[in-house]
Amino acid sequence: MGFLSVLSMAHKWIAERTLPGDTVIDATAGTGVDTLALARLVGAKGCVYAFDIQQDALDRTRDRLSTAEDAERLGEVRLLLSSHDRMAEAIPPGALGRAAAVMFNLGYLPGGDPSVITKPATTIAALESALALLRPGGILTCVLYPGHAGGDGEALEVERWAAALPGKLGSAVLYRQPQRPAAPYLIAVERSKRRDERAST
Ligand code: SAH
Repeated sequence: MGFLSVLSMAHKWIAERTLPGDTVIDATAGTGVDTLALARLVGAKGCVYAFDIQQDALDRTRDRLSTAEDAERLGEVRLLLSSHDRMAEAIPPGALGRAAAVMFNLGYLPGGDPSVITKPATTIAALESALALLRPGGILTCVLYPGHAGGDGEALEVERWAAALPGKLGSAVLYRQPQRPAAPYLIAVERSKRRDERAST
């Protein structure tokens, strides 16, 4: 039957930790595939904040949401034309430390300008922010593209970041096909569940 794709695995891990009515974040809206899945997951009482630096991506995401057959049952989606390293400033202060999940899908917008790609420095800053926005037990997922130009270095930096993360902040996992080193792979971090540990960081 084969293993789940990296994206399906990211969705599965998020679904296991998210409830209807939750707040979640799509850090890279792109064509809106993940935004739509997240809006379904949180349902009509939930909320998705979706970031992208390209208006084209937000337009494509809005179209995908409005033409979905279940559009009226989706969670509220706030599309934000902003870099994901500013996510803590872009969402209401009440949502800090409350997000169930933050999803990253790096690289470039399919069908868009391939020179507009996620960059290691902003990606790492955004991952740090994302971790702070998560509630205890919440999850951050990041799909990496070592086969794209520029994506290999970025993937390594994200891997190093996850490897260096203090265990009291969260636990990291890697989901990868070792026989296909250029294929996309997934890193996820689950935020530590113990509030006393969070308070000491
Ligand atoms: N590689 C995936 C799609 C990734 S889309 C695939 O092939 O399916 C990645 C999105 O991230 C793009 O739409 C791009 O505009 C966006 N992006 C790039 N830098 C960003 C940043 N700093 N903040 C938010 N979004 C960013």
